Amino acid sequence: MIQLQQIHKYYGSQHVLKGIDLTVGKGEVVAILGPSGSGKSTLLRSINFLERATSGSITINGRTVDAASASKQDVLALRLSTGMVFQQYHLFKNLKVLQNVMLGLTDVKKLSPAKAKEISTVLLEKVGLKDRMNHYPSQLSGGQQQRVGIARALALNPEVLLFDEPTSSLDPELVDEVLSVIKQVASEGNTMIIVTHELGFAREVADRVVFMEDGIVVEEGTAEQMFTNPLKERTRQFLSKAL
Ligand code: ADP
Ligand code: MG
Repeated sequence: MIQLQQIHKYYGSQHVLKGIDLTVGKGEVVAILGPSGSGKSTLLRSINFLERATSGSITINGRTVDAASASKQDVLALRLSTGMVFQQYHLFKNLKVLQNVMLGLTDVKKLSPAKAKEISTVLLEKVGLKDRMNHYPSQLSGGQQQRVGIARALALNPEVLLFDEPTSSLDPELVDEVLSVIKQVASEGNTMIIVTHELGFAREVADRVVFMEDGIVVEEGTAEQMFTNPLKERTRQFLSKAL
C-alpha cells in the first residue's frame, strides 16, 4: 500500500532523515515513536510533500514517486492519496465546521455542494459533532476541533491517514475523546501512520511500532514485541515509560 525507500532529508547541512525505509500494508496501523527532534514530523510531511525529501522514493498504491524529481502532477496525486491530521488542527477559522469538512470535496473532488454536504454530515456524525456543524472552530474545544480535523482527513477517502501527534496540543481531559475516535477509525480497516507520545494508546491501536531516533529507524516490530521484548537497549529505555 505504502512504501518509503531510502528517504533522506537535509535542512541545509543538517541531515534530519538518514535513509528511512518503511512499508505499511493495506489496513495496517503503524505507530511511529521516538524522542522529539528525531525527524518524525519531517518523515510524515515528506510522504505528502508538505516537505520535499532530498532523495528517496515514495510508493502509494503502486504509484512510485521519486522525491527529488517529482512533478507537480505526482505531488498532487500523492496529496490526494493521503489525509493528514495535524497537532495544531489547522482548521480554517473563517469557515464553519461543515465547510471545513466539505472544502476538499467541492474544491478538489469537484462534488456538488449537496453531495459534499451529505458525505460531510455522515463524517461529522461519526466523530460525534453533528450538532456542531454550523459552529466556527473558535467555538469548539480543542478535542472537538481535532475531531473536525479527523473528519476532514477522512472526507477525501485517502489511501493512508497520517496523524502527527494528534493529541499533543490538547488539555489532558480532552485526549481520550480524540484517541477513541482514532481507535474507531483504525478499527474500520483504514491504513494509518500515527506519530504519538501516547505510548499506551500506541500499544493498543498499532499493529506495528517503529522507533525512530536521530533520523533513523532504530527498531521496528509488532506492538506486542516492541513493548514486551524490544531487541535494542535504546528502544527498551524509551518504551519502558509505558510499561
Ligand atoms: P520530531 O517530529 O521527531 O520532533 P522534526 O521532524 O520536527 O522531529 O525535526 C527533526 C529535526 O529537523 C529537528 O532538529 C528540527 O529542528 C529540524 N527541522 C524540522 N523542520 C525544520 C525546518 N522547516 N527547517 C529547518 N530545520 C527543521
Ligand atoms: Mg514532530
